[in-house]
Amino acid sequence: MTDTAAIEASPIRPAGIDATALNPAHRATSLTRMTGEVLDVLVVGGGVTGVGAAVDAASRGLSVGLIEERDYAAGASSKSSKLIHGGLRYLEMLDFALVREALRERRLLLTTIAPHLVKPVAFLWPLTHRIWERPYLAAGLLLYDTMGGRRAVPRARQLSRSAALAAAPGLRPDALIGGVSFFDTQADDARMVAMLARTAAGFGAALATNVRMEHTLRAGDASPGTMPAQRVVGVAARDLLHDADITIRARHVVLATGAWTRGDQLQVRPSKGVHITVPRARIAMDFGLLMRTEKSVLFVIPWGDHWLIGDTDTEWPYDPAYAAASRADVAYLLAKVNGVLREPLTEADIQGVFAGLRPLVAASAAADTTKLSREHTISSPAPGVSVIGGGKYTTYRVMARDLIDAAATDLAGHGGGRVPASVTHALPLLGADQWSQRWSARRETAARCGLPLSQVERLLNRYGSCTDDVVRLIAARPDLGELLAGAGGYLRAEVVYACTHEGAIHLEDVLARRTRTAIEVRDRGVAAAADACELMATELGWSTPRRERELASYLARVAAQLAGETAHDDESAYRALRPTAGSDAVSCPEAGADSR
Ligand SMILES: Cc1cc2nc3c(=O)[nH]c(=O)nc-3n(C[C@H](O)[C@H](O)[C@H](O)COP(=O)(O)OP(=O)(O)OC[C@H]3O[C@@H](n4cnc5c(N)ncnc54)[C@H](O)[C@@H]3O)c2cc1C
Repeated sequence: MTDTAAIEASPIRPAGIDATALNPAHRATSLTRMTGEVLDVLVVGGGVTGVGAAVDAASRGLSVGLIEERDYAAGASSKSSKLIHGGLRYLEMLDFALVREALRERRLLLTTIAPHLVKPVAFLWPLTHRIWERPYLAAGLLLYDTMGGRRAVPRARQLSRSAALAAAPGLRPDALIGGVSFFDTQADDARMVAMLARTAAGFGAALATNVRMEHTLRAGDASPGTMPAQRVVGVAARDLLHDADITIRARHVVLATGAWTRGDQLQVRPSKGVHITVPRARIAMDFGLLMRTEKSVLFVIPWGDHWLIGDTDTEWPYDPAYAAASRADVAYLLAKVNGVLREPLTEADIQGVFAGLRPLVAASAAADTTKLSREHTISSPAPGVSVIGGGKYTTYRVMARDLIDAAATDLAGHGGGRVPASVTHALPLLGADQWSQRWSARRETAARCGLPLSQVERLLNRYGSCTDDVVRLIAARPDLGELLAGAGGYLRAEVVYACTHEGAIHLEDVLARRTRTAIEVRDRGVAAAADACELMATELGWSTPRRERELASYLARVAAQLAGETAHDDESAYRALRPTAGSDAVSCPEAGADSR
């Protein structure tokens, strides 16, 4: 398919019914479809890989369902360093194929697929060794810039020590002897997953969060006695909102369950990574920072009014649902970054802490997870099912394509027709339409809707063309144009829009992923929680007990996380988090026809 043909196939949003709107009505219709039809493909897991697979399959014309136990991006896909990058460190590990592929994806995302969400970011690599380091890094960065193909970001530049310090006066003068600046790109990982999910819905995919796969169903299970119990023909699942068992039938099931992947499906070895956020004003620096550590690298990444500092890389042998940061993780990050800062950071500077699990594939017995490859692996433990592990956020599209290619091969060999090739390389996500025109017209938009220019720019970079929806909402209800108090710069309209269009079901979905309040304000969103809960309650028609449960669950989760951060090791941090109803999803089952 040509690029133009794919672009013409972008999800359409006619006036009236918006097929891309994820809300309780979409969830109900999706579950009716998933339990009533035999789907071509059922995707399990709503991280970037799963929703990417749903976009890939649905845009090839397949009938697709997706279930996610918690929320879109509730796993690693909201806990990453938020870089869309080739990964300089993989270049150093001589993993050229991975870097080339990731840089190609970076360019596609920045220019075609998600220009509204993916933005260039400048980094400084401080040099600390005389003679060899500058030419070594220069050669690496030349390769990095060249491997990306047609240039999407500016080239790397050599900086003298004084030029580097002028751009980064927050660094200690003895911390570097010079520097190199280079560009990579970044995106709000959780928001991009929500946009991918909406894009999939626009192509007709049925999606439902708060639905857990219990186990796969074999042919013999589904129709006892007719066939040997072999081929996977669907899944047994549980609708966690209604506390109900459901059966979903599909010709092919793909498992994109990240760190939750079981050993009999694929050997995944979860590796924990922790980040902290601190106020932007605390480090005077025009660039992000990339520094070498003993085992890996440390990033200090600009993130709105904050710096994102990370990350760690350690084995996580506990339940993936309760990945927790410990005091040791936080102390490690502070010690590393303080090694180069004029004014050291303290725990009092920390605004947010988050931990996620990389779903690395345990292909080798490498003792150290930093040495495990970031390439992805697809396996088929039984006919009718494909499982994916490994990979990186940046290469989600390639992973999704390969996964659906595997499903297509199986479908074709099992009596289905030929499935068309993937078109996602040329498929802009929802919100990408007329991006450059919209960005150029941002001042006029601000004047027209009465919002400050800075807010319009922020909205455009989060919603792209769907900013129009948010602006319309504010025009109809001007109180929604006000800031959500205590949330760190988000508008009240964004809470409502998260419910009506972005599939938010629990209070945590809004505070942790549709907005990033939970990692951006010091109290982790506690002060904003009651107001956000009221807005959601009105929008979703919650009963008083439901409101109370949502608020209490969110506050309990924050308290448990804070307790975990004072624990000295992983096991105690895990135990601190474990007793809450869920670290990432608050299960609020409600009997009855709706989830109020
Ligand atoms: C600390 C850290 C930093 C990173 N930084 C970067 C970076 O800067 N750039 C980059 O490219 N990559 C980065 N990565 C890697 C990237 O985040 C992951 O590779 C990617 O997000 C994995 O996505 P996924 O969809 O495979 O898994 P996940 O996002 O974990 O999604 C799996 C989903 O499956 C769901 N699930 C599990 N079991 C079930 C079930 N039984 N039924 C229904 N649903 C289920 C889970 O709830 C979860 O939402 C980083 C990772 C970490 C942890």
